[in-house]
Amino acid sequence: WENLKNSDIDIHEIMMKELKRQEFGLELIASENFASVPVMEAMGSILTNKYAEGYPKKRYYGGCEFVDEIETIARNRLKELFDAKYANVQPHSGSQANMGVYFALLKPGDTIMGMALSHGGHLTHGSPVNFSGKLYNVVSYGVNEETGIIDYDNVRKIALEHKPKLIVAGGSAYARIIDFKKFREIADEINAYLMVDMAHFAGLVAAKIYPNPLEYAHVVTSTTHKTLRGPRGGIILTNDSDIYKAVNKSIFPGIQGGPLEHVIASKAVAFKEALSESFKDYQKQVVKNAKKLGEELQKQGLDIVSGGTDSHLLLIDLNNINITGKALEEALGKCHITVNKNTVPKEKRSPFVTSGIRIGTPALTTRGMKEEDMIIIAELISKVAKNIKDEEGTIDDSIIEEVTSKVKSLCQKHPLYKELI
Ligand code: PLP
Repeated sequence: WENLKNSDIDIHEIMMKELKRQEFGLELIASENFASVPVMEAMGSILTNKYAEGYPKKRYYGGCEFVDEIETIARNRLKELFDAKYANVQPHSGSQANMGVYFALLKPGDTIMGMALSHGGHLTHGSPVNFSGKLYNVVSYGVNEETGIIDYDNVRKIALEHKPKLIVAGGSAYARIIDFKKFREIADEINAYLMVDMAHFAGLVAAKIYPNPLEYAHVVTSTTHKTLRGPRGGIILTNDSDIYKAVNKSIFPGIQGGPLEHVIASKAVAFKEALSESFKDYQKQVVKNAKKLGEELQKQGLDIVSGGTDSHLLLIDLNNINITGKALEEALGKCHITVNKNTVPKEKRSPFVTSGIRIGTPALTTRGMKEEDMIIIAELISKVAKNIKDEEGTIDDSIIEEVTSKVKSLCQKHPLYKELI
């Protein structure tokens, strides 16, 4: 970053601090990952200069011959990755991918049905504070509060009662494999569209260790920056040519202007990585690590919602040790362990406090951590959780020092961006 250093020392200094935070901390946020240097090189490139409104071969600007090639490669790699007939790689984010589908298939005031935010759904699945909750009539389903698993009978009951035009499956804090076949059967009973938002588990689908939702869904959306380990962005997939045409129109000119061709090039690089054998091994290790971390946390007396995980994430219910998600997030943060507080089934606290935390293993696995490291991490999380003194997450300095030093040695054992540090 020499050029940046010479031209803008303020931003350079802060970026160096962020690089060190990423390098020397344990990143356990389930929706985060570390993109490779080639993925970042494509993103930070001259492609940011190009306007290319439209789609390959049908642009509203001249000089698009090379970005056309790039976008075509991105689409083809993405189709291969998920065995899809049609792909749109232009959504700037996961939220815009979801908006693009809603605008393509629904009219304002139509009914949609998604997983409640408090049970693991995403804001764009119908939360009242999001456009989805403001523009559409929303009905929500959730998990069985005892088992933590989606209650499919209840999903069906709500669907038959309210007859939504579109059902959304997928979420941000659901650790188990989703039964897409059941969702499609329910959608078919009421003649609804099924949209699967696979943002969280897309990398696992790409590695074929999680069912491919496109086998059942009319349309699938995703982000590219979570388990998929690409740049920040969104994608839409379908096997239906009419839906594809409608989605293309709703992304451009419907809700976006010029596509981010630098990000699309970066997505293409990430899709190539995701097609490799080593990516499959990586995803298998992500799940092994999550399972191991869950088992070890349970040994330490922590309660895992649904009793474990089939994927890259775990939801810890802190009610049995009587601390809040907010306090644990704060306390772990002091020891350079990053997690996020999260609501749990039967939640009694506000979303700013919560009774749980969500943790995930994609980022740690990218830096090469394995099961033996998960044993240590579970001990560290448990030690911090059991030594919290108040709502603010206060813990003794001696604990902070001890945990921080173990975090540092784990990070040194598994360096991340060697070429940048
Ligand atoms: N869908 C799901 C399931 C998500 O978890 C997220 C982000 O966390 C999104 C969509 C939105 O993605 P973005 O933050 O890129 O808008």
